[in-house]
Amino acid sequence: MGARGGRRPGRAILGGSFNPPHVGHLRLAVEAREALGPLVQGVDLVPCARPPHKKNDNLLPFELRAAMLEAALAPLPWLRCNRLEALRDGPSYTWDTLRAYHTAEPDTELYFLLGSPDFALLPTWRRGLELPRLCHFVVVPRGGLSPGGFADMTRALWPTARARPSALPGGVCMALPGGGLAHFLPLPWLDVSASRIRERWLAGRSVNYLMPEAALNLLRAHRRDIAAYWREA
Ligand code: ATP
Repeated sequence: MGARGGRRPGRAILGGSFNPPHVGHLRLAVEAREALGPLVQGVDLVPCARPPHKKNDNLLPFELRAAMLEAALAPLPWLRCNRLEALRDGPSYTWDTLRAYHTAEPDTELYFLLGSPDFALLPTWRRGLELPRLCHFVVVPRGGLSPGGFADMTRALWPTARARPSALPGGVCMALPGGGLAHFLPLPWLDVSASRIRERWLAGRSVNYLMPEAALNLLRAHRRDIAAYWREA
């Protein structure tokens, strides 16, 4: 990891397929930034070019997913879309993405945001359990996960993880082998997912207010192509 002690403000990163981006992603970014306060200068949303774990055949083209994100993020200057995963070939591994951040700015602490279901799946990610060498985690609970449940989940992933005082509201923080911390951040989980939006769209139902209007306008502009991609599922 980079220099400890917060000499420079860090950066929060939210990776995802964003197929399409929705208000759950955006509220997660906004609330995490508020909770992290001076620890971070902003939040990067990083669209995955080729997700290693998801079926790729219903994935909208990278360019459209990134354009929707950029349109959605435009009102807030501290939120930005980083297209770096499109510059690499092969599956888009988070390990490689965080290494690229780290190489570009070795002194910037990275806070990787993710939902608790994805956190539990880290052993299935390439070098997932080594990621604390490169970043801290900020884990948002889904489905009523308690602080104690989060500590248990973390120890199941890294048996040597140790509780330590937390700098974030929520009170639970675990120190991980490799140097990173796992913070528990109990935000409300909005009941919206990209899969549900795709289903509703294909059924001809409204997805208004589940996505930012600017991103929805891009979906509407590509209506014909989108049905072809999402029908593949
Ligand atoms: P899909 O339904 O296609 O699986 P998704 O809605 O889960 O997609 P992703 O792009 O896979 O969206 O998610 C990116 C990140 O955002 C993940 O860390 C995921 O846990 C988190 N996330 C997804 N939906 C929400 C939500 N409603 N509230 C908070 N975080 C979310």
